[in-house]
Amino acid sequence: DQPVVIITGASSGVGLWAAKSLADRGWMVIMACRDLAKAEAAANEIGVNAANRRILHIDLGDQASVRKFADDFHALGLPLDALLLNAAVYLPRLEAPMRSPEGYEISVATNYFGHFLLAHLLIGDLKASNGRPKGKLGASPSRLITLGTVTANSEEFGGKIPIPAPADLGDLSGLASGFKAPIAMIDGKDFKPGKAYKDSKLACMIMSREFHKRWADTGVVFNTLYPGCVADTPLFRHTPPAFQRIFPWFQKNITKGYVSQPLAGERTAQVVADPAFASQSGVHWSWGNRQKEGRMPFAQPLSARATLEARNERLWDLTMKAVGLA
Ligand code: NDP
Repeated sequence: DQPVVIITGASSGVGLWAAKSLADRGWMVIMACRDLAKAEAAANEIGVNAANRRILHIDLGDQASVRKFADDFHALGLPLDALLLNAAVYLPRLEAPMRSPEGYEISVATNYFGHFLLAHLLIGDLKASNGRPKGKLGASPSRLITLGTVTANSEEFGGKIPIPAPADLGDLSGLASGFKAPIAMIDGKDFKPGKAYKDSKLACMIMSREFHKRWADTGVVFNTLYPGCVADTPLFRHTPPAFQRIFPWFQKNITKGYVSQPLAGERTAQVVADPAFASQSGVHWSWGNRQKEGRMPFAQPLSARATLEARNERLWDLTMKAVGLA
């Protein structure tokens, strides 16, 4: 009855440290990564328990690869107790959109479409494992957990920052028009690479809520989280060098939003595995935008941009088409 979790993007940052934390708790961790050698080296370097990990290939920006990953996972014959949607790219300096094999703008294709498709291909496994004995946890709900971010939640100061623009999916006209060149933004407006990242994260947070609405009767728990500002992960590798120096300092000393990678990984592991975080579904867990010693997590409201029912349902329907499920 060893519990099994898939973590996307477990080769660095939050996903890597969450893998360590969950493997240390006795979970079997399937590290879903695009660079197998890098993932192996990273897991060895920080000591992700080798007996409790498997590394499988996935490129979330490529829908054929996502489908192959699901087949490869099913071939292992393992149950699935939790799916952690963590991987992301942040490419704020692109001058023109990069495209996925399907022709979609790459940040939305990777961070949102890839996870949307993967979650659909594996939701049956989560449902089948719901309530099964899970090691020390005992019989407990399965969980689909998605990394959100403060910059996609305008309830937070960090979500109001207008550089380059706050997350906003607008009227979804870009998606409705097929989301292929020359279209690069969900709202159909001009390409802003930093906003494309924020939009993709907002879409992921909406996806989690929609899963909760549509699949709640399965008993599976669907939550998002913001583990704090992990300002020194490789997520920021494509920002200007000066930003990479100043941003962690600013978050540590001015906003006090900074958390270390091990702490962010531990918080993420708690949302995946600890009973307290399965008491509610359809919520966004946060430790706040400013870190304080011993601060307790709380379920945070999301901005109106994430809770517009009719728009969110349309987003779901259009995304089903974009990933070939409708
Ligand atoms: P990292 O860049 O350290 O990790 C991102 C992971 O995603 C890496 O393993 C990366 O693989 C993987 N990845 C990227 N593209 C693909 C792809 N096409 N297919 C498969 N895997 C891919 O970033 P973080 O740890 O900082 O970010 C993790 C999550 O946390 C993200 O969802 C982010 O939005 C969220 N988050 C981060 C915060 C922060 O302050 N850093 C704050 C709040 C949320 P590779 O190693 O091969 O590049």
